[in-house]
Amino acid sequence: MNEEKRRARILDGARVAEEIRREVAVEAARLKDVQGYVPCLVAVRVGNDPASAVYVRNKVRTSETVGLRSEHHELPEETTTEELLAEVGTLNARDDVDGILVQLPLPRGVDEARVIEAIDPAKDVDGFHPVNVGRLTLGRTGFAPCTPAGIIELLTREGIQISGRHACIIGRSHIVGRPLAQLLLQHDATVTICHSRTHELASLTRQADILVVAVGRIGLIRAEHVKPGATVIDVGMNKLTDAVEARELFGENAAARIEAISKRGFTLIGDVSPAEVAGVAGSLTPVPGGVGPLTVAMLMRNTLTAARRRRGLS
Ligand code: NAP
Repeated sequence: MNEEKRRARILDGARVAEEIRREVAVEAARLKDVQGYVPCLVAVRVGNDPASAVYVRNKVRTSETVGLRSEHHELPEETTTEELLAEVGTLNARDDVDGILVQLPLPRGVDEARVIEAIDPAKDVDGFHPVNVGRLTLGRTGFAPCTPAGIIELLTREGIQISGRHACIIGRSHIVGRPLAQLLLQHDATVTICHSRTHELASLTRQADILVVAVGRIGLIRAEHVKPGATVIDVGMNKLTDAVEARELFGENAAARIEAISKRGFTLIGDVSPAEVAGVAGSLTPVPGGVGPLTVAMLMRNTLTAARRRRGLS
């Protein structure tokens, strides 16, 4: 049979993120005009992790482009839990601060749970505080973590039906897998959560209409894991340094990736084997340009929402 080769529709997360940022910018401008108020996000970073520095810079820069105020508080590597708690306490008390994010991971020795629990839940724009986790689980108003909230926006805005569909999530972290399961349930999906102890992963993932992969392992998801026509959301963010592997994973799109490896030593790749899965899935998020930009856009949205709620405006 002379069957045309199937290629998945690429879900343009960068475009949807741009749309969300534009909406936030319009609302922020209106808040400024009508209330004379500019919401403020404070990002706290502890130590010298270069990846965290890049993430925080990106968040601060994006805040400025959408018309929010932002501050970047850099604390030294040797900061203690008590010192960080004091910093969070100061930010909680400042009325002009609407959103507080403490960039994770924190240096070893700092009690991450205590720090997160110290953030005022009304300013917890990352949605990691137990109060917000509880509200999400109960389906009540709070803050949902940005990456899962961004995935829901992407599915909704791309017209992908969630209600009644089988969604399978690989990964049960507190920042992606678990909150996403709650959000998908709220949208009436039937949800399966897989993790490192799951047996016969492919037999479960192959049943999914929507497959979300949030593990952090290159090439984990191959064609045999995917139901034909399924929507595949690749959350993974990994550095690939091997040109031979890049040729195998990216197939006919490998040239630009191999060039990136030779120029800067790596190319970014998710957990999904893109060339193989694009031949089976109905739609697929790229890496980069899929889930990543949505995460930052939703942080902007959460900060604006925090400012409005704190002033009784929504
Ligand atoms: P994490 O906390 O390390 O969790 C990884 C999850 O994957 C765990 O639940 C683990 O199971 C599961 N897992 C590990 N090996 C597995 C296997 N062989 N089969 C099935 N499940 C397996 O990671 P995370 O923070 O959720 O991040 C996951 C990935 O997403 C990373 O690459 C990260 O960089 C990326 N990420 C991207 C964004 C973005 O904005 N694009 C945001 C957040 C995260 P156990 O629970 O049993 O250990």
